Amino acid sequence: MPSGASGHVLVVNFLPLIEAKRDGRELSSADIKAMVQEFTDGRIPDYQMAALLMAIAFQGLTESETRTLTLAMRDSGEVLRFPADPRPVVDKHSTGGVGDKVSLPLAPLMACLGCRVPMISGRGLGITGGTLDKMESIPGFTTCLRPERIVGQVQSIGVVLAGQTSTMVPADKKLYALRDVTGTVPSIPLITASILSKKLAEGLQALILDVKFGAAAFMPTRERAAALADSMNKLGNACGINTRALLTDMNTPLGRSAGNWLEVREAVECLEGHGPEDLQNLVVECAANLLVQTGAVDDLNAGWQRAQTELASRRPLRKWEELLAAQGADLDAYHRKLKAEVHSTVVVEVKARRSGILRSCQARGVGEIVREMGGGRLVRDAEIDPNVGIDRLKKPGEKIRAGEALCRIHANHPDRAGEWQARLQGAFLVE
Ligand code: URA
Repeated sequence: MPSGASGHVLVVNFLPLIEAKRDGRELSSADIKAMVQEFTDGRIPDYQMAALLMAIAFQGLTESETRTLTLAMRDSGEVLRFPADPRPVVDKHSTGGVGDKVSLPLAPLMACLGCRVPMISGRGLGITGGTLDKMESIPGFTTCLRPERIVGQVQSIGVVLAGQTSTMVPADKKLYALRDVTGTVPSIPLITASILSKKLAEGLQALILDVKFGAAAFMPTRERAAALADSMNKLGNACGINTRALLTDMNTPLGRSAGNWLEVREAVECLEGHGPEDLQNLVVECAANLLVQTGAVDDLNAGWQRAQTELASRRPLRKWEELLAAQGADLDAYHRKLKAEVHSTVVVEVKARRSGILRSCQARGVGEIVREMGGGRLVRDAEIDPNVGIDRLKKPGEKIRAGEALCRIHANHPDRAGEWQARLQGAFLVE
């Protein structure tokens, strides 16, 4: 019997699995399950798992292998279990983008539309922002909740916005960390298994996926994004979650702001009914799909109407504040923060050099600068500066006059503001 890193006798002989995948052969379900268990328990060394991940990145996985891997990863830890209740359990997952704050208004909106929403979210990755980082810019708000608390809060107020607990899907945590440093993140079956194992652990009935494509997205081309959407769609449905996927553009930032607190402010504007049109439309589109998926309405038109009416009622705004209070936010401090216009040491405008129509605003450039300002992480455990970012972004198609502001920079490094101003100028094309 082979022995693992800890000297323990392994259930699975790992070397032949690496060789089989290297040569393009299919792995058995029993081998995949044992491999996930052994790796999670620390009995397969990282160098061997790295070799297998690279073989998968080149050779791929069949649908059946991807399904077994996904379920084994889900079962590597705790799975949320909700009591029987007529309210369906739903969630949304976005593959990430610049200015993507859809989850913030969508979660309370879905709760008001009669669903239970255990929205387990992530932190920023690369230049894309993360829901947890945004929520933690709210004074006192905590995203670190135990599974019983997540279930309890979802049952009582219909919604939670929290981080993955240490006991949920530990296999993904270990595999993702290894993929991150071995060039094996952009593998469609590995991404599918990573995302869906976490969603399956939430005990969902319906899931809407927002798969982004473009220069600031994980998937640069529409074709790659469509392939990922198709893979997740098929597997989600095969695993019993009613799943749909949207393909959305991430060449331009979503909404008019990027940066944690600035995005919370914009999400609140959306809940107040005066958010940017593209953000509002995507929130309603996700909600309308979920309403169809859960059988609450017959078609997307009816879903749009229900979601728009509910958003306009301001009930989701009240639900949002209920959610903040339930997770420890200091509502007085939050309202004071909303009222004050500026929370950084400098605010400077980026001015148009010529008049014309704005043809493009590069989301990648905007995301890189927000990250450099401290709004994202350049090294793994870097602390986020919640109050920096960019707002009042002009949108493609808008008329611009020479000298007019294309956006505003909120920075806490006054010495670098001039450099960011100049670089942001290059992110806009006015013709
Ligand atoms: N997000 C995830 O959670 N997993 C991936 O593999 C990629 C993006």
